[in-house]
Amino acid sequence: MSKQQSRSQFVTCLIGDPVEHSVSDFMFRYFAKLTGIENYNHLKIKISKADLENLKITMKAIAVFGFMGANITLPYKEKAIKYLDIIDKTVQRIGAVNTIVNKKGKLIGYNTDGHGAIKAVETKLRPLKSADRVVVFGAGGAARAIIGSLPQVSHLTVLNRPSDFNQAEKLKKDFIKCGSRIETKSLTDRNIVSAIREADFVINATPVGMYPKTGASLIYKSHFDSIGRSRIKNLGFFDAVFNPFETEFLKLAKQYGAKTCPGIYMMIYQGIKAFRLWTGKVVSEGKVEEVRRLLQKTINSRYGK
Ligand code: NAD
Repeated sequence: MSKQQSRSQFVTCLIGDPVEHSVSDFMFRYFAKLTGIENYNHLKIKISKADLENLKITMKAIAVFGFMGANITLPYKEKAIKYLDIIDKTVQRIGAVNTIVNKKGKLIGYNTDGHGAIKAVETKLRPLKSADRVVVFGAGGAARAIIGSLPQVSHLTVLNRPSDFNQAEKLKKDFIKCGSRIETKSLTDRNIVSAIREADFVINATPVGMYPKTGASLIYKSHFDSIGRSRIKNLGFFDAVFNPFETEFLKLAKQYGAKTCPGIYMMIYQGIKAFRLWTGKVVSEGKVEEVRRLLQKTINSRYGK
């Protein structure tokens, strides 16, 4: 098998656990169609959390089988870094990899998630300003990507569940070195209310609300009732979760008059960047709504809505 796939066949993959809920295979095949690439395939490779040795083997296989590259999803965005040959500055800054390019058998790691999230927020909500106050739920790979890609804001609060609080402290330590002002708080009802009361943007970067547990949400009506509609309606809410298309978190925010942005936009913008890194082909941003409609239809038909 050659080190680089013959260009009559283009293969990329998604590595993670779970991967079943992802619609990125559909998205990348559509990108290939839009950019005139034939014989393109995007595989889903599930590596059980109990089988970490298989992550190493799969990373090696990307190079050996000549895949063009891979997307890495949870829970391997940090663990996969040690198997890279070259680490781009986005991975250095964020501490997580989500896109791997196979360049003549050498694996180069990038992070396109942060770019995708900020582009989604700024396109669908509004541009971020230096006076903005941002609240992020979660301190894992997605939170690190978003925080590591935020422009300078006036205040950043990270709320994480007590059982993973060390993760939030590590995030704070890493990003304070980069000059960001970060406050970390435990994810309690009281802290949720006080943080949202002071915020301009609220971001969910946890898997809460993700398929199949689509009824779950970190915020409830009681939180919003104690903050008040007049405050909520001026805020922007973004959820990194892309399946379902509209999470309970976003539905509730919308009911209280807030502007909302679903995670599918983060996936599309990160995907456009990853696809360009793999293939050199540019998917026009003018196609984003068309891709969003197709993905939303796919999610609804595959996962029954
Ligand atoms: P991760 O496992 O690295 O981190 C998850 C974080 O959520 C951790 O801080 C953890 O403490 C917290 N968390 C997990 N379960 C929780 C719960 N029940 N209550 C409170 N906090 C909880 O995962 P990640 O890679 O950061 O992904 C988070 C979510 O973002 C996933 O749903 C993932 O699919 C989504 N995501 C979407 C995109 C996109 O393109 N839209 C990209 C990356 C990640």
